[in-house]
Amino acid sequence: MNSNDRDRKKEWKREQRQLARAAFPMSDPLLESLFNMVNEHVEDSGCDHTFRFTKHWIAEHRQAEASVLDWLNSHGGFCDCEVIANAADHWEQNR
Ligand SMILES: [Zn+2]
Repeated sequence: MNSNDRDRKKEWKREQRQLARAAFPMSDPLLESLFNMVNEHVEDSGCDHTFRFTKHWIAEHRQAEASVLDWLNSHGGFCDCEVIANAADHWEQNR
């Protein structure tokens, strides 16, 4: 790979990251708070394969449930344990 290709690849990666960040449904501190809270509850009580902890957090923080759940879905989060396993991972990699 010559340096031109490397630059292009780097540029592409940077753009992908920017797109991912632009699609985040909330600020980083809010997302961090959501993931931390859901993680703690799933560790304590397990996942019942619904969004019970996620939805609880969303209501408590007065966020738009549909847009947050949409975003979680599109990054592999279909219940609380997948929110931490998949969506949190996507966020960590692009924040
Ligand atoms: Zn689950």
